[in-house]
This record gives sequence, C-alpha cells and structure tokens, in this order.
Amino acid sequence: MSSPVYVANCIFCRIAHRKAPSTSVYETKYSYAFLDISPLSEGHTLVVPKTHAEFLHELSDEYLADLLPVAKKIAVGTKAEHYNILQNNGKEAHQAVGHVHIHVIPKPNQEEGLGIKWPAK
Ligand code: C5P
Repeated sequence: MSSPVYVANCIFCRIAHRKAPSTSVYETKYSYAFLDISPLSEGHTLVVPKTHAEFLHELSDEYLADLLPVAKKIAVGTKAEHYNILQNNGKEAHQAVGHVHIHVIPKPNQEEGLGIKWPAK
C-alpha cells in the first residue's frame, strides 16, 4: 500500500482520518464511508479514499479498486431497491469538494421509507 496523502485543509481528508466529525457508515483499509451532511435522501452516503486526490483520474488504482465495492456494500446495506451512484469531477461537473467521493443515494419507497440502521455490517 502506498503511503496515504493527507491534506490538512481538505475536509474529506480530515473526515477520513477522523480529525473532523462525521457519522461513520463503514470503512476499509483504503476507503471511508460516512453520511452526507446535506442528504438528498435518507441514508445518502459518501465514500472517499483515505488518500487525497482531487479527481478520479488522479487516484491510484489500489485506492480506486476499493471504492466501488464499498459503494455497492453501502447500497445493499440500505436495502433500497433503487439508488443512484454519482461521482463528480471538476467544477463544471458540479464537484463542490476537491477530494474524490462517490455518492450513494438510496431512493426509499415514498410511503415506507428505509429505516436504515448504520453502521452497515
Ligand atoms: O459531488 P459534490 O462535490 O458536489 O458533493 C459534495 C457533497 O459533500 C455534498 O453532497 C455535501 O453535502 C457533502 N459534504 C459533506 N460534508 C462536508 C462537506 C460537504 O457531507 N463537510
């Protein structure tokens, strides 16, 4: 494993390294998943690599390879039948935070909701 890059003024670096608060959902050696502070739906989760990279194409394959399986685990854990997986790169693509992140956005049944219990196990 290459040494993780930590950027002190990056909020997602701070969250991934537990130097800023977040609601933890799941983590692996390479990735950290936490609830979005401004969720688009119940259980809206972000998956970030535990190393700094602004864009997906700048992230090494060892970190990149872990992100999608984690996003899948989160999506399955929500028990949502329908969900969005989103990942933005650059301001023109609506990236607001300059640290790679994958959105997992469950689409709960409008009447029943999801009743999600985190962390995912
Ligand atoms: O893909 P994009 O960069 O637009 O999304 C950034 C996401 O990060 C937003 O959904 C925002 O609510 C979330 N966020 C967060 N915690 C922060 C800052 C931003 O969950 N401290």
